[in-house]
Amino acid sequence: MFMLPLTHMNNDIAAIRQIIRDIPDFPKPGIVFKDITPLLGNGPLFSRTIDILAERYRSQKIDTVLGIESRGFIIGAALAYELGAGFCVVRKPGKLPYETHRASYDLEYGTDALEIHVDAIRNHARVVIADDLIATGGTAVAATELVSRLGATVVECAFVIELAFLKGREKLKPHGVFSILQYDTE
Ligand code: AMP
Repeated sequence: MFMLPLTHMNNDIAAIRQIIRDIPDFPKPGIVFKDITPLLGNGPLFSRTIDILAERYRSQKIDTVLGIESRGFIIGAALAYELGAGFCVVRKPGKLPYETHRASYDLEYGTDALEIHVDAIRNHARVVIADDLIATGGTAVAATELVSRLGATVVECAFVIELAFLKGREKLKPHGVFSILQYDTE
């Protein structure tokens, strides 16, 4: 397997960090929204972002990548393609057309629930859960519950960004968290 030297990797991570845009007070006062659209719009950096995640999971026999609505669809689908894995989704209530399971969770801003198709993941599948960002970890915990309910195994939860000061990683301890960028303060 081809792996980039560590210094290249660190330069790439610094470039990814620089291109992510902070939007203060969005979607409500007090929240600093991490906007990844400039990263997605930059071909080489978007590609490196997915490569960093794929390098981590390439030898892990991943069957399925699960993307969390909505930016997790972008990161997760690209990662699944790179790994030759299947891709499936968890969505907000009422969006999925077939029979679903549901799990509720607390957001950094409000409460919500996620749904998954009852046949989205096969029994005993090895699953990576993908999203753009982990804040409190509530969303990802709900996703892990849905994966478990289908009899599959969460190998790890993968994020581009981790708001480490919110300690979401602790909620996901049984499964493990990987993030490319960590922020220790807002
Ligand atoms: P949480 O459940 O608190 O970990 O929140 C994670 C989910 O909310 C992810 O799907 C993120 O896309 C979104 N999110 C939470 N906080 C932010 C933020 N500061 N900037 C961008 N997205 C966020």
